[in-house]
Amino acid sequence: MTAASFSSDNGKPASSDPESRSARPNPTLKILTVEESAAAAEAAKRAQETEAAKSAANAIPEMGGARVAEPPLEPTPEFLAELQRESDALENETPQAILKWAVDRFAPKFTMATAFGPEGMTIIHMLAEIAPETPVFNLETGYQFQETLQLRETVLERYGITVEYKYPEQTVEEFEAANHGPVYLTDPNRCCFERKLRVLHQAARGWHAWASAIRRDQSEDRARAPIVGWDKKFQLVKISPLANWTKNDVWSLIMKEKIPYNPLHDQGYPSIGCQPCTRSVLPGEDERSGRWSGFQKTECGLHSS
Ligand code: SF4
Repeated sequence: MTAASFSSDNGKPASSDPESRSARPNPTLKILTVEESAAAAEAAKRAQETEAAKSAANAIPEMGGARVAEPPLEPTPEFLAELQRESDALENETPQAILKWAVDRFAPKFTMATAFGPEGMTIIHMLAEIAPETPVFNLETGYQFQETLQLRETVLERYGITVEYKYPEQTVEEFEAANHGPVYLTDPNRCCFERKLRVLHQAARGWHAWASAIRRDQSEDRARAPIVGWDKKFQLVKISPLANWTKNDVWSLIMKEKIPYNPLHDQGYPSIGCQPCTRSVLPGEDERSGRWSGFQKTECGLHSS
């Protein structure tokens, strides 16, 4: 007794005409014995189980952020109501006052993530005056512009603040070798997930709160950001001191205080992410239109719910 498997070297389907098959036997026809067929099925099942185990091992843990801090911070209804009250009360405060509140309320469990954008540089400048000891980190995907990396050195020189790099587990070379090439070309969501989100989940463990540099007028997603709120994705209190600021507010302060900024902003790059996924924009184009140009993607996923 045999089980038959038909294959074709050129990938085209074999003829369905039985006469034709018997008259001109396909030289690539592979006849499997029942034992071979059963072994192939078993191997496929094992491969599937290995893949499932791998995904489970790589999954983002349900518990993270402030919930695994010491002491842990749980988003109880009472705590969420408190955050809402504080957010409302801070709605008309200056970014400096909001940061001061955050430091008083959450330090030393208060941190900041930055991509060295103009908003992030503005917050670093403010933190240098209010609480320079605040730990600041950057998600170093391995794909950032050299000009961006240089800003880390400038921050150290100007403010004495060392921005810590947080790296993905795999180097760019390992990541691309394991994925048959650059993942940003085919699946930027997965690339951002592996190079940014997973790293931030890890970096968020043990903190109570983090500052983000988002502005409400940057995108529809960001328009709903509270000043203070619970970040479900990273399970931290998220504080957005610049939520009510405009681009002009940010750049006015940068000019007034001579805050260092990425020189690429003077070369047509209003929003800067990783080099392969950022292009310059034309006058009149949306400021984030140079990010993931050509893809239906506007956010890396760090600030979207
Ligand atoms: S911005 Fe581009 S290169 Fe950077 S992590 Fe996302 S997809 Fe990858």
